[in-house]
Amino acid sequence: MGTCKIVVFRSADQPLALTETVIPLLKEKEILIRNEYATLCRSDLYTYTGKRIEKNPTILGHEIVGRIEAFGPGAPERDLRGNSLKIGDRITWAIFASNPESEFSKMGMPQKAEDLFKYGHEQITPDSSLHGGLSQFTILRKHTPIIKISESLALPVAAIINCAVATVSGAIRVAGNLSGKNVLICGTGMLGIIACAMARSNGASKVFATDTNAERLVISKEFGVDEILETNSGNSLKDLFLEKSDGLKSIHTLIDFSGSPDAMEEAFGLLGIGGTAVFIGATFPQRKIQIDAEQVVRKILTIKGLHNYNEQDLDTAVSFIEENQGIYPFEKLIYDGFSLEQSNEAFLYALEKNDFRVGITINSSK
Ligand SMILES: [Zn+2]
Repeated sequence: MGTCKIVVFRSADQPLALTETVIPLLKEKEILIRNEYATLCRSDLYTYTGKRIEKNPTILGHEIVGRIEAFGPGAPERDLRGNSLKIGDRITWAIFASNPESEFSKMGMPQKAEDLFKYGHEQITPDSSLHGGLSQFTILRKHTPIIKISESLALPVAAIINCAVATVSGAIRVAGNLSGKNVLICGTGMLGIIACAMARSNGASKVFATDTNAERLVISKEFGVDEILETNSGNSLKDLFLEKSDGLKSIHTLIDFSGSPDAMEEAFGLLGIGGTAVFIGATFPQRKIQIDAEQVVRKILTIKGLHNYNEQDLDTAVSFIEENQGIYPFEKLIYDGFSLEQSNEAFLYALEKNDFRVGITINSSK
């Protein structure tokens, strides 16, 4: 079926290698995607620098958008929403493929199913390749949730849907109804910023954002935040909150993307009666946080966690971006400046500049 350029990651002490591989014949229920654009997620950067060990060799990149190039035998003809799929359609897809009949899938957690396959995280083997974003093509295997997306979306914004935005959709789902609630978002990196906008569009009464990074907090104001609480100024989060909360004494909902034990403990202390804490950012080994169980009981608090997301969250993420692309300046969050051939430069730029996202154009639109 021809050849395809891929960028191979072997280990943190070697640069990425641009090479060519043969596009294999599609197996049952597979779909070949011509990748158009990928953004580098924080977990890609962690693998690139060796902070996180991934099976290798691999093709990094799981925030991807592309167009359907070919259908394998028996491939799905409709997307998650029931829309028909045809060659040339621009689609997004879940970072996972897993058996929908597995125990965890049936419980709404397909990202934890036993046979989980994660795009951008798998080893290249003779039987399995073209599963990451830094490649001209991706092969979608069976049981991959797929959604056709609007042609009106800018490619860099479309690319962030299937990790950053979908994970935030999951966080907001787990947080419950935010209508009329006072919400605190901890950590204003890519996910935290999107969460501010999503909390706002889900009817939050007031949205507070806290971080130690003043620049990010300033940007968060363009994404629906009412008050920013910069915590490296020697003030405690509680003091800052009481100073800026216009008389409010507590918050209803806390969503943590920082993964910082100090931030999680401080923010947890701001929850009022019936409050909910959702932990998303703590995806790395760290000290245990201290929580006062008596306060959990007396204040009737709820603590939830979420890792990755499910197909419903992907659907919500697509709707959110399609409905809000003119309302929030999502494009500002992506530095759009590299080609597939410049993947090493893109990673080095991302690590040095610490932008929200760095984007890589793969195949120009046809
Ligand atoms: Zn990611």
